[in-house]
Amino acid sequence: MIHGSAARRLLPALAVAAGFLFSGAAYALPLHVDRLDASDTYSLSEIMQALEPVIAAKKADGSAIIMSWEALYAPLSIPQRKFLDLFRQLKAADLGATSHYFGEAPPADLEPVGLQQITRQGQPETLPPQYLPRPVLEAYRRMMAAMRAAIGRELMVDSGYRAPAYQLYLFLFYMPKHGRSITETNRFVALPGHSEHGYPPRQAIDFVSLEGVDGDGDPEAFEALPEYTWLQAHAREFGFVLSYPRGNALNTSFEPWHWHYEGRD
Ligand SMILES: [Zn+2]
Repeated sequence: MIHGSAARRLLPALAVAAGFLFSGAAYALPLHVDRLDASDTYSLSEIMQALEPVIAAKKADGSAIIMSWEALYAPLSIPQRKFLDLFRQLKAADLGATSHYFGEAPPADLEPVGLQQITRQGQPETLPPQYLPRPVLEAYRRMMAAMRAAIGRELMVDSGYRAPAYQLYLFLFYMPKHGRSITETNRFVALPGHSEHGYPPRQAIDFVSLEGVDGDGDPEAFEALPEYTWLQAHAREFGFVLSYPRGNALNTSFEPWHWHYEGRD
Protein backbone atom coordinates (compact mmCIF):
# COMPACT_ATOMS: atom_id res chain seq x y z
CA MET A 1 0.00 0.00 0.00
CA ILE A 2 1.10 3.56 -0.58
CA HIS A 3 0.31 6.14 2.10
CA GLY A 4 0.47 9.87 2.57
CA SER A 5 2.20 12.35 0.39
CA ALA A 6 4.01 9.70 -1.60
CA ALA A 7 0.61 8.37 -2.64
CA ARG A 8 -0.57 11.82 -3.62
CA ARG A 9 2.47 12.21 -5.83
CA LEU A 10 2.39 8.70 -7.27
CA LEU A 11 -1.25 8.01 -7.89
CA PRO A 12 -1.81 10.46 -10.72
CA ALA A 13 1.25 9.07 -12.47
CA LEU A 14 0.04 5.51 -11.87
CA ALA A 15 -3.37 6.41 -13.15
CA VAL A 16 -1.88 7.77 -16.33
CA ALA A 17 0.33 4.70 -16.74
CA ALA A 18 -2.55 2.34 -15.96
CA GLY A 19 -4.77 4.21 -18.36
CA PHE A 20 -2.19 3.89 -21.07
CA LEU A 21 -1.42 0.24 -20.42
CA PHE A 22 -4.68 -1.30 -19.35
CA SER A 23 -7.72 0.80 -20.17
CA GLY A 24 -6.74 0.03 -23.68
CA ALA A 25 -5.92 3.44 -25.02
CA ALA A 26 -5.10 1.53 -28.19
CA TYR A 27 -7.87 -1.05 -27.86
CA ALA A 28 -10.64 1.37 -27.01
CA LEU A 29 -10.22 3.20 -30.28
CA PRO A 30 -12.06 1.77 -33.26
CA LEU A 31 -9.94 -0.41 -35.49
CA HIS A 32 -8.49 1.24 -38.56
CA VAL A 33 -10.11 -0.97 -41.15
CA ASP A 34 -8.05 0.12 -44.16
CA ARG A 35 -4.74 -0.66 -42.45
CA LEU A 36 -4.10 -1.47 -38.80
CA ASP A 37 -2.08 1.22 -37.03
CA ALA A 38 1.31 0.40 -35.49
CA SER A 39 -0.08 -0.27 -32.03
CA ASP A 40 -2.80 -2.64 -33.28
CA THR A 41 -0.29 -4.36 -35.57
CA TYR A 42 1.89 -5.06 -32.53
CA SER A 43 -1.13 -6.33 -30.58
CA LEU A 44 -2.07 -8.61 -33.44
CA SER A 45 1.38 -10.17 -33.70
CA GLU A 46 1.51 -10.77 -29.93
CA ILE A 47 -1.93 -12.40 -30.06
CA MET A 48 -0.92 -14.65 -32.95
CA GLN A 49 2.18 -15.74 -31.04
CA ALA A 50 0.08 -16.57 -27.99
CA LEU A 51 -2.44 -18.52 -30.09
CA GLU A 52 0.06 -20.40 -32.23
CA PRO A 53 0.72 -23.38 -29.88
CA VAL A 54 -2.99 -23.70 -29.01
CA ILE A 55 -4.05 -23.74 -32.66
CA ALA A 56 -1.22 -26.12 -33.61
CA ALA A 57 -2.33 -28.62 -30.93
CA LYS A 58 -5.96 -28.35 -32.01
CA LYS A 59 -5.06 -28.76 -35.67
CA ALA A 60 -3.10 -31.87 -34.77
CA ASP A 61 -6.09 -33.50 -33.06
CA GLY A 62 -8.59 -32.15 -35.63
CA SER A 63 -10.51 -29.96 -33.18
CA ALA A 64 -9.44 -26.51 -34.41
CA ILE A 65 -12.47 -26.15 -36.70
CA ILE A 66 -14.86 -26.73 -33.80
CA MET A 67 -13.05 -24.65 -31.18
CA SER A 68 -15.05 -22.49 -28.77
CA TRP A 69 -14.60 -18.79 -28.05
CA GLU A 70 -13.42 -19.82 -24.57
CA ALA A 71 -10.64 -21.93 -26.06
CA LEU A 72 -9.56 -19.10 -28.37
CA TYR A 73 -9.54 -16.56 -25.54
CA ALA A 74 -7.91 -18.83 -22.92
CA PRO A 75 -4.23 -18.01 -23.67
CA LEU A 76 -4.89 -14.24 -24.03
CA SER A 77 -4.68 -11.33 -21.59
CA ILE A 78 -7.76 -9.21 -20.89
CA PRO A 79 -6.63 -6.39 -23.21
CA GLN A 80 -5.97 -8.97 -25.94
CA ARG A 81 -9.47 -10.41 -25.47
CA LYS A 82 -10.90 -6.89 -25.78
CA PHE A 83 -8.92 -6.46 -28.98
CA LEU A 84 -10.54 -9.61 -30.43
CA ASP A 85 -13.94 -8.34 -29.26
CA LEU A 86 -13.48 -5.35 -31.59
CA PHE A 87 -13.14 -7.75 -34.53
CA ARG A 88 -16.22 -9.68 -33.41
CA GLN A 89 -18.21 -6.45 -33.48
CA LEU A 90 -17.23 -5.68 -37.08
CA LYS A 91 -19.92 -6.11 -39.70
CA ALA A 92 -19.19 -6.54 -43.38
CA ALA A 93 -21.41 -3.51 -43.99
CA ASP A 94 -18.92 -1.42 -41.95
CA LEU A 95 -16.32 -2.36 -44.56
CA GLY A 96 -18.46 -1.48 -47.54
CA ALA A 97 -18.88 -5.21 -48.27
CA THR A 98 -22.10 -6.94 -49.19
CA SER A 99 -21.57 -10.26 -47.40
CA HIS A 100 -24.57 -11.27 -45.37
CA TYR A 101 -24.45 -11.22 -41.58
CA PHE A 102 -25.94 -14.46 -40.22
CA GLY A 103 -25.00 -13.86 -36.59
CA GLU A 104 -24.05 -16.50 -34.09
CA ALA A 105 -26.15 -19.61 -33.82
CA PRO A 106 -26.58 -21.74 -30.70
CA PRO A 107 -24.16 -24.68 -30.52
CA ALA A 108 -25.11 -27.33 -33.01
CA ASP A 109 -25.42 -31.07 -32.53
CA LEU A 110 -22.20 -31.71 -34.42
CA GLU A 111 -21.20 -35.13 -35.74
CA PRO A 112 -17.86 -36.15 -37.24
CA VAL A 113 -18.18 -36.91 -40.95
CA GLY A 114 -15.78 -39.83 -40.51
CA LEU A 115 -12.77 -41.02 -42.46
CA GLN A 116 -12.67 -39.49 -45.95
CA GLN A 117 -10.18 -40.61 -48.56
CA ILE A 118 -9.59 -39.25 -52.03
CA THR A 119 -6.93 -39.47 -54.71
CA ARG A 120 -5.15 -36.28 -55.69
CA GLN A 121 -2.85 -36.34 -58.71
CA GLY A 122 -2.72 -40.10 -58.39
CA GLN A 123 -1.76 -40.04 -54.70
CA PRO A 124 -4.11 -41.36 -51.99
CA GLU A 125 -4.98 -38.69 -49.45
CA THR A 126 -6.93 -38.71 -46.19
CA LEU A 127 -8.87 -35.48 -45.67
CA PRO A 128 -8.64 -33.66 -42.31
CA PRO A 129 -11.57 -34.36 -39.95
CA GLN A 130 -14.81 -32.52 -40.72
CA TYR A 131 -18.00 -32.02 -38.72
CA LEU A 132 -21.62 -31.35 -39.65
CA PRO A 133 -24.81 -30.80 -37.68
CA ARG A 134 -26.52 -34.19 -37.41
CA PRO A 135 -29.51 -33.47 -39.73
CA VAL A 136 -27.17 -32.05 -42.38
CA LEU A 137 -24.85 -35.05 -42.19
CA GLU A 138 -27.84 -37.40 -42.57
CA ALA A 139 -29.14 -35.44 -45.57
CA TYR A 140 -25.64 -35.43 -47.12
CA ARG A 141 -25.40 -39.23 -46.73
CA ARG A 142 -28.82 -39.76 -48.32
CA MET A 143 -27.85 -37.49 -51.19
CA MET A 144 -24.57 -39.33 -51.80
CA ALA A 145 -26.31 -42.70 -51.77
CA ALA A 146 -28.61 -41.38 -54.49
CA MET A 147 -25.70 -39.93 -56.47
CA ARG A 148 -23.76 -43.21 -56.29
CA ALA A 149 -26.82 -45.12 -57.45
CA ALA A 150 -27.41 -42.70 -60.34
CA ILE A 151 -23.93 -41.97 -61.71
CA GLY A 152 -21.55 -44.18 -59.71
CA ARG A 153 -19.74 -41.19 -58.21
CA GLU A 154 -19.81 -39.22 -54.98
CA LEU A 155 -18.46 -36.08 -53.35
CA MET A 156 -16.58 -35.76 -50.06
CA VAL A 157 -16.89 -32.98 -47.48
CA ASP A 158 -13.87 -30.73 -48.01
CA SER A 159 -15.14 -28.20 -45.49
CA GLY A 160 -18.21 -28.44 -43.25
CA TYR A 161 -18.79 -26.71 -39.94
CA ARG A 162 -16.26 -24.05 -39.02
CA ALA A 163 -16.64 -22.47 -35.57
CA PRO A 164 -16.84 -18.66 -35.49
CA ALA A 165 -13.83 -18.63 -33.13
CA TYR A 166 -11.74 -20.49 -35.71
CA GLN A 167 -13.12 -18.22 -38.44
CA LEU A 168 -11.77 -15.21 -36.51
CA TYR A 169 -8.41 -16.94 -36.08
CA LEU A 170 -8.26 -17.52 -39.85
CA PHE A 171 -9.18 -13.91 -40.50
CA LEU A 172 -6.36 -12.68 -38.22
CA PHE A 173 -3.93 -15.22 -39.68
CA TYR A 174 -4.49 -13.93 -43.21
CA MET A 175 -4.37 -10.21 -42.36
CA PRO A 176 -0.58 -9.81 -42.80
CA LYS A 177 -0.90 -11.35 -46.28
CA HIS A 178 -3.37 -8.60 -47.18
CA GLY A 179 -1.41 -5.57 -45.99
CA ARG A 180 -2.93 -5.75 -42.48
CA SER A 181 -6.07 -4.30 -44.03
CA ILE A 182 -9.35 -5.56 -42.59
CA THR A 183 -11.23 -4.38 -45.67
CA GLU A 184 -8.89 -6.21 -48.03
CA THR A 185 -8.71 -9.41 -45.93
CA ASN A 186 -12.51 -9.51 -45.90
CA ARG A 187 -12.51 -9.96 -49.66
CA PHE A 188 -10.93 -13.40 -49.12
CA VAL A 189 -11.89 -14.52 -45.61
CA ALA A 190 -15.29 -14.06 -44.01
CA LEU A 191 -15.55 -12.32 -40.66
CA PRO A 192 -17.03 -14.49 -37.90
CA GLY A 193 -20.80 -14.52 -38.14
CA HIS A 194 -20.63 -13.95 -41.89
CA SER A 195 -19.99 -17.52 -43.10
CA GLU A 196 -22.56 -20.21 -43.83
CA HIS A 197 -19.89 -22.67 -42.63
CA GLY A 198 -20.30 -21.31 -39.08
CA TYR A 199 -24.07 -21.01 -39.10
CA PRO A 200 -25.76 -24.41 -38.61
CA PRO A 201 -29.30 -23.20 -39.48
CA ARG A 202 -27.90 -22.66 -42.98
CA GLN A 203 -24.96 -25.07 -42.84
CA ALA A 204 -22.63 -24.98 -45.84
CA ILE A 205 -20.57 -27.80 -47.30
CA ASP A 206 -17.67 -27.31 -49.71
CA PHE A 207 -17.47 -30.48 -51.77
CA VAL A 208 -14.40 -32.16 -53.22
CA SER A 209 -14.51 -34.89 -55.85
CA LEU A 210 -12.88 -38.29 -55.30
CA GLU A 211 -10.16 -37.12 -57.72
CA GLY A 212 -9.46 -33.95 -55.69
CA VAL A 213 -11.33 -31.32 -57.73
CA ASP A 214 -12.19 -28.73 -55.09
CA GLY A 215 -12.68 -25.05 -54.27
CA ASP A 216 -8.98 -24.33 -54.61
CA GLY A 217 -9.11 -25.01 -58.29
CA ASP A 218 -10.91 -23.01 -60.90
CA PRO A 219 -14.70 -22.95 -60.73
CA GLU A 220 -14.90 -24.20 -64.32
CA ALA A 221 -13.15 -27.45 -63.35
CA PHE A 222 -15.70 -28.16 -60.65
CA GLU A 223 -18.54 -26.99 -62.87
CA ALA A 224 -17.48 -29.55 -65.49
CA LEU A 225 -17.89 -32.50 -63.07
CA PRO A 226 -20.79 -34.89 -63.71
CA GLU A 227 -21.26 -34.72 -59.91
CA TYR A 228 -22.02 -31.00 -60.25
CA THR A 229 -24.49 -31.60 -63.05
CA TRP A 230 -26.23 -34.19 -60.86
CA LEU A 231 -26.32 -31.77 -57.88
CA GLN A 232 -27.93 -29.10 -60.03
CA ALA A 233 -30.71 -31.51 -60.95
CA HIS A 234 -31.19 -33.25 -57.57
CA ALA A 235 -29.61 -31.44 -54.58
CA ARG A 236 -32.83 -29.56 -53.85
CA GLU A 237 -34.62 -32.90 -53.30
CA PHE A 238 -32.24 -33.45 -50.35
CA GLY A 239 -32.49 -29.91 -49.00
CA PHE A 240 -29.24 -28.51 -50.47
CA VAL A 241 -29.06 -25.23 -52.40
CA LEU A 242 -26.20 -23.64 -54.38
CA SER A 243 -25.28 -20.48 -52.43
CA TYR A 244 -23.31 -18.52 -54.99
CA PRO A 245 -24.39 -19.21 -58.58
CA ARG A 246 -22.87 -17.30 -61.48
CA GLY A 247 -23.84 -13.63 -61.42
CA ASN A 248 -25.38 -13.85 -57.96
CA ALA A 249 -26.80 -10.68 -56.41
CA LEU A 250 -24.48 -11.06 -53.38
CA ASN A 251 -21.51 -9.98 -55.46
CA THR A 252 -19.74 -13.18 -54.37
CA SER A 253 -17.65 -15.12 -56.86
CA PHE A 254 -19.17 -18.25 -58.46
CA GLU A 255 -18.59 -21.18 -56.07
CA PRO A 256 -19.98 -24.38 -57.61
CA TRP A 257 -18.55 -26.46 -54.71
CA HIS A 258 -20.33 -24.49 -51.96
CA TRP A 259 -23.87 -25.67 -51.12
CA HIS A 260 -25.92 -24.95 -48.03
CA TYR A 261 -28.66 -26.89 -46.30
CA GLU A 262 -32.17 -25.48 -46.05
CA GLY A 263 -34.10 -28.65 -45.32
CA ARG A 264 -36.69 -30.25 -47.50
CA ASP A 265 -39.67 -28.00 -46.88
ZN1 LIG B 1 -17.67 -22.70 -48.63
